[in-house]
Amino acid sequence: MKKYSLVIHGGAGTLVKGLMTPEKEEQYKAVLNEALEKGYAVLENGGNALDAVAVAVTVLEDSPLFNAGRGSVFTNDGTHEMDAAIMDGKTLDAGAVSLITGIKNPISLARDVMEKTEHVFLAGAGAMRFAKTLGYKLESPEYFYDEHRYQQWQNIKDSDKFELDHSMKKEGKFGTVGAVACDQNGNVAAATSTGGMTNKRWGRVGDSPMVGAGTYANNETCAVSCTGSGEYFIRGVVAYDVSCLMEYKGMTLEEAADEVINNRVLKIGGDGGLIAVDSKGNVAMPFNTEGMYRAYKTSEGKKEIGIYKKAP
Ligand code: ASP
Repeated sequence: MKKYSLVIHGGAGTLVKGLMTPEKEEQYKAVLNEALEKGYAVLENGGNALDAVAVAVTVLEDSPLFNAGRGSVFTNDGTHEMDAAIMDGKTLDAGAVSLITGIKNPISLARDVMEKTEHVFLAGAGAMRFAKTLGYKLESPEYFYDEHRYQQWQNIKDSDKFELDHSMKKEGKFGTVGAVACDQNGNVAAATSTGGMTNKRWGRVGDSPMVGAGTYANNETCAVSCTGSGEYFIRGVVAYDVSCLMEYKGMTLEEAADEVINNRVLKIGGDGGLIAVDSKGNVAMPFNTEGMYRAYKTSEGKKEIGIYKKAP
């Protein structure tokens, strides 16, 4: 049997250690652990990578702690606009949605775009109409209300600023979420879901739902889910760049992921990180910020849940 593995993230950014209480840290780790174990159980039971990443991301979307689904940040209009994408490395099938509102689990809608339409990417009102035809029920704004995120928005809502949820220097809640997996058959998949950036406007869309920028999967190389300053991750075509360095330059997963995060995207001003697996089940989780909510588990019995950089 091949080695299999699951990696998840809950956002990268300026996570200042002293500003987080031990209780809060435990809460984050508990949700990361739940998402990791539920996703990993799919792989352990012989399930496919696509199901594993969808299960893990759904758990993270249901938690108010992360900037996705229920915990999505406020837009300039005081609403929540969510983006998500999922990709199957075996078939290169992909599905994505952006600027959707009221949907409890955007990752499910992205998967429905992949599996139930001829398209890859649906946005805004059209994506909402598609959800309606499938009978999605809409959650009320209260479901997405969170006092802390409301305050984040209040602080900058009358300015032109928009802000990464996880760049807050105060004790805060961070995080776009994502998962990548390699299953027992060596198939890989990636999924990413986000509320985007606080105070965003004009239909701003980040890297998360864009195939090749924030999300990518290909059995020939790897599966990648990114988090960070989306504008730079789009310009750097970050997730695909990791795959390209493996395919064209023969780099290992770890070398390629490190080169992109700690050199290429950093050079153009992008801060953040990514999680990745290759089709041999190897894992990489580089980030160029203070921290990244992350966790992984492999069939070789390795498991880790982390938030901050490791002490050198
Ligand atoms: N990359 C996301 C975006 O720009 C934000 C994040 O990673 O939290 O929308």
